[in-house]
Amino acid sequence: MSQADGTNGPLSFFENVNRSFDRAARFLTYPEGLLTQIRTCNSVYAVQFPIRTRHGYEVIAGWRVQHSHHKAPCKGGIRYAPVVSEQEVQALAALMTYKCALVDVPFGGAKGGVQIDPKRYSVDELERITRRYTAELIKKNFIGPGIDVPAPDYGTSGREMAWIFDTYASFHPGQIDAAACVTGKPISQGGVQGRVEATGRGVYFGLREACENAEDMKPVGLSPGLADKTVIVQGLGNVGYHAAKFCQEAGCRIVGIAEYEGGIVNARGLDVDAVRAHRAQTQSILDFPGAENVPQSPAVLERACDILIPAALENQITATNAPRIQAKIVAEAANGPITAQAEDILAAKGVLIIPDVYLNAGGVTVSYFEWLKNLSHVQLGRMGKRFDQSAFDKILHTVERLTDKGLSEGERREVARGADEIDLVNSGLEETMITAYRQIYEEWRADTQVPDLRTAAFISAIKKIAVSYIELGIFP
Ligand code: GLU
Repeated sequence: MSQADGTNGPLSFFENVNRSFDRAARFLTYPEGLLTQIRTCNSVYAVQFPIRTRHGYEVIAGWRVQHSHHKAPCKGGIRYAPVVSEQEVQALAALMTYKCALVDVPFGGAKGGVQIDPKRYSVDELERITRRYTAELIKKNFIGPGIDVPAPDYGTSGREMAWIFDTYASFHPGQIDAAACVTGKPISQGGVQGRVEATGRGVYFGLREACENAEDMKPVGLSPGLADKTVIVQGLGNVGYHAAKFCQEAGCRIVGIAEYEGGIVNARGLDVDAVRAHRAQTQSILDFPGAENVPQSPAVLERACDILIPAALENQITATNAPRIQAKIVAEAANGPITAQAEDILAAKGVLIIPDVYLNAGGVTVSYFEWLKNLSHVQLGRMGKRFDQSAFDKILHTVERLTDKGLSEGERREVARGADEIDLVNSGLEETMITAYRQIYEEWRADTQVPDLRTAAFISAIKKIAVSYIELGIFP
């Protein structure tokens, strides 16, 4: 395999994303110019800014990449990590474009990165870095409700999003839509219920869809459904924790968890909440009661299980460890966890890969709901909740009268109830993940030459993006 610089070696993350794109493009007949326009990064902003810390002055490197302007605004998280690079942010921005298209979220893809190890900085310093980075984005018009809307990613959370919102709002006094300049905010700052757990919940919905059909489970030797499946999760951060928790609630047994400090396994199952509480108390998942410690955490991924959920960073399953992976299904909760070479090895072994570009789209889906909420300035469900409740109540009274049967108070409360914000968010997320899976699945089954779900997902995404260029008259 050759790299962009002509040397032999593994593909870069961005080359890897483009490899998936090219594999899908083979099944499409669009003009080369259109395909090139879709796969190219439209705008790349690199910035270096000084920050005063306890250790003196430091110059921090940051990026914001807008991969596609075929829809506005652009959308994608901001990552804080010591290894962030321009090429990585480009890859992640490209994935956002395809992800948004797949789940019919009307945004172009973007991504931001700040090259820091957040653990090295105090909360004060992180706030200064975040506000300064935001100011740099404002200066270049790289942020705004209709321009580019960041969100949390690896190393960031609602706290950073609140600082971004506050900085943006201070620079734009009176801008009534300012809260829609960033998503993943705390509820008090205009966030939406269910955003924190959205990516993990989406992973669960996607897995549930993929495992539902007996015909699809036969080649991997599994029975349909999630109940009793054994699961290993890499990463107990926001995405990994919630994905594991929802899978556990659906009857899966979590038999291994890997974190950067080490891993733990227990064939009888690990209670995700108890492990998380143990980690909060001891700063480590190691020495969890009843579990076996695996000091080299990557070794956990190689243990026997039905479903492996990498939910940390990219390039975790490589040509080196792929031959030893025993999972039947790899569910990519992280972005880009499998390298190109590893993907070929897993495919040859018959492993079913549920691709990141679909599976972790729950986060941006619920970000879209938050953005809509911010623009409409009203809590989701506020207008209809009572109306629905009284309409259901009237129907129940009529049924009771006609059948001469009465419902208990509990039954009545259960049935005659209007939707809260969280109900609407979760229902919108479930609908989105199911619909997108069916569309991808159709592409997969439509042509026996389409090798896998990732290629099918890229076909589906490219088709949707191509339509917007063609109908604009930019390409024939
Ligand atoms: N960072 C998340 C992702 O990679 C969420 C992006 C968003 O909500 O805009 O999908």
